[in-house]
Parts: sequence; C-alpha cells; structure tokens
Amino acid sequence: AKHDGRNDYRFFNHDMQLRTARVLALENAMHQALERNEFYLQYQPQLSIKDHRVIGVEALLRWKHPELGMISPAEFIPLAENSGQIIAIGTWVIRTAVNQLKRWLDSGLPPMVMAVNLSAIQFKHPDLPGLVSSILEQAQLAPEYLELELTEGVAMGDPVHAIGIMDDLHSRGVRMSIDDFGTGYSSLSYLKKFNIYKLKIDQSFVRDIATDADDSAIVSAIIQLAHSLGFITIAEGVETEAQREFLLKQGCDELQGYLFSRPLMAQDTEQFIKLNQQQ
Ligand code: C2E
Ligand code: CA
Ligand code: CA
Ligand code: CA
Repeated sequence: AKHDGRNDYRFFNHDMQLRTARVLALENAMHQALERNEFYLQYQPQLSIKDHRVIGVEALLRWKHPELGMISPAEFIPLAENSGQIIAIGTWVIRTAVNQLKRWLDSGLPPMVMAVNLSAIQFKHPDLPGLVSSILEQAQLAPEYLELELTEGVAMGDPVHAIGIMDDLHSRGVRMSIDDFGTGYSSLSYLKKFNIYKLKIDQSFVRDIATDADDSAIVSAIIQLAHSLGFITIAEGVETEAQREFLLKQGCDELQGYLFSRPLMAQDTEQFIKLNQQQ
C-alpha cells in the first residue's frame, strides 16, 4: 500500500497529544502524592554470592495513584526531575529507607546495608551531603549502613564535580556505588578517583551472560576491573541458576535479582531476612 504521509502525521500528532495529556495528569497528581501517602518503598534483597546471606536491600520507590493505578518509577521519576519535585520525593525516600533500616536493626535483624537510588538532580544539589548526615543523625543510624546508588551516566557526566561530592559523602562515612555500570562511557582515569565502594553490573549484560560470548566477556572484564580498582561488584537482574554459576566462577561478590527475590513490602522483606538467617 502507498504510504500516506498526511495520515502518519495525524497519528503522530494524536499520539503526542495523548502523551502530553498523560504527562500533565501525572505531573498534577504528583503534587499531592507525598501528602496523600501515595508513595511507598519496596526492598529487594542483595545477597553475598558465597553463602547467600542477605548483606543489604535496595529501596525501590512505588507510586500508587487512586485512579491512575500503579505508575512505574521509570515513568514518573523523569517527570519529577523536570518539575523539581524529585528533591522532596527523594528526601522522603532517604528518610523512609533510613528509618526502616533503623527499626529493623533495633528489632534484632542482622547488620545490613540500605541502598538508596539518587537522581542526578539530588546528587548535584548542594544540600545533599548535609541532608544525608542530618537524616542519619535524627535516626541515630551509623552512616556506613547507608549506600547511595548513582548511575554511571550521572557520575561520568561531570566527573570532576562528582569526585568532589563523593569525597564529601565519603568523609561523612556514607558509602556510594555506581549503578547500571557498563551502560555509559566510563573514563578509567576518573573511575579510579571515584570514592566508591561498589560497582553494580547492569542487568542488560547479566541477562545473556550464560549464552552470549560478548556479554560474558564484558561482565568478567568489569569484575576484574572493579577488583583491581578496589571496588566490590554486585550483579543485578540475576534470574537464572546459569547466570548465578557464571557470576560465581568470575568472582562476582554479590547478587540481586528475581532468582532470589523480587522487591518486597517491608514486612515480607523482614520475613525473607529472618528465613535467610535461619538457613
Ligand atoms: P535500578 O536502580 O536499576 O533498579 C533495578 C530495577 O530492576 C528495579 O525496577 C527492579 O525492580 C528491577 N529488577 C530487579 N531484579 C530484577 C530481575 O531479576 N529481572 C528484571 N527484569 N528486573 C529486575 P524498578 O523498581 O521498576 O525501578 C526502575 C528504576 O527506577 C530503577 O532502576 C531506578 O533507576 C529508578 N528508581 C527506583 N526507585 C527510585 C528512587 O527511589 N529514586 C530514584 N532516583 N530512582 C529510583
Ligand atoms: Ca539502583
Ligand atoms: Ca541498576
Ligand atoms: Ca536501570
């Protein structure tokens, strides 16, 4: 059939209008989401590869709107960044995650780390280091229990600036890790200057490690590079036994993924950790 350019344009335009309407609806709804308690956190366990002990959890933000239903962070976080609301939301995430870990530790759960995702805007905000310290102080939680995840893209976007912020957070005792590692363009000369603790190998590489020679080569190279720079490694998106075996052979340190657990509500996380402790 002959291609009808005008029709294409009309469809495109209609699609754009729908998208804009959704964006506007979400941006509007987000203004009240915090005060209406529509946000909550789930926690995904992170396990030591050697003995499968839970060494930490990653806090993952969820938004359930009464009419619009569940909205994925991949959709609403970019909007929150554009509107500036990510600062208030991100502060709520850090505070909620820190308070949760404090309650867990007080109730006798074994020591573990709380990993929290940082958006680019939060990371660059001059108040971040002070804010993090004051949240920890209010909760009476030692700073080494908190780990802030920053994507490789953000860290490498302005590496000199990033080094300064990482040094500041490090001097306050807070750990940093580089998220989605392998998806950006890392300069090795900067990477070695980053005051970080852990590299998180992106799940896009983990997916095919058992079958794709390129991806398995990339993952083993990342693990070796990380270790030679003194960082530990965690693989995310681990879903199969074959992936786990490969990562174990390559010397990866920690695992996170559906093979062990999906992100869980706080109570289920607690149960998971208690069962894990008994094994
Ligand atoms: P991320 O930080 O890379 O988080 C990992 C994502 O992979 C999560 O999706 C998690 O649920 C999912 N995942 C974990 N294990 C598996 C697995 O085995 N297989 C597969 N296919 N997926 C797995 P989620 O929760 O939808 O979060 C998406 C992204 O949204 C996160 O990617 C992160 O960039 C962002 N995000 C989530 N919470 C926050 C937050 O509190 N603040 C900020 N700034 N960003 C957040
Ligand atoms: Ca993350
Ligand atoms: Ca990630
Ligand atoms: Ca990701």
